[in-house]
Amino acid sequence: MLEGRFFFGFGFDIHPLKEGRKLYLGGVEIPYSQGAYGHSDGDVLLHALIDAGLSAGGFPDIGTLFPDSDPQFKDIRSSLLLQKTLKLLLSKNLKFYQVDLTLVLDAPPIAPFYSQIKENLGSLLGLSPEKIGLKARRGEGILFSQDKPAIMCFALVVLEKLDFSDTL
Ligand code: MG
Repeated sequence: MLEGRFFFGFGFDIHPLKEGRKLYLGGVEIPYSQGAYGHSDGDVLLHALIDAGLSAGGFPDIGTLFPDSDPQFKDIRSSLLLQKTLKLLLSKNLKFYQVDLTLVLDAPPIAPFYSQIKENLGSLLGLSPEKIGLKARRGEGILFSQDKPAIMCFALVVLEKLDFSDTL
């Protein structure tokens, strides 16, 4: 019965953390001395989410659609890239149904910002907070060294086909 109603995608992204950059996660600015280095604003959470959504919708990946060789995407806020992604998905009558996100970083602590990030994602995606999973884990001294801090994010996305009942 559910065949053709839901579509699944997985995304991953990683960025180095550098001094003098702002840290954005899920479109929310997190106060910290370092930020994710990248061509856009380096929002690793939104990048993983976008890639998972594009994949679920059968589109090329974020680097193909929004290449960092293109000056129009230099320092662009990733929430704008997400909006472009939502439009592409909507062209296929697809909408975000549920997302699950895992951040991996040593610092700063993200738990105090869970509700703020979920709220912002909810308004960007049109989802209620219980459809958004979010948690953070540390590298446990295995993934990142102190002189090379980084942040990564894993994203699982479920899309729903809006006109599904029409196809029955
Ligand atoms: Mg990225």
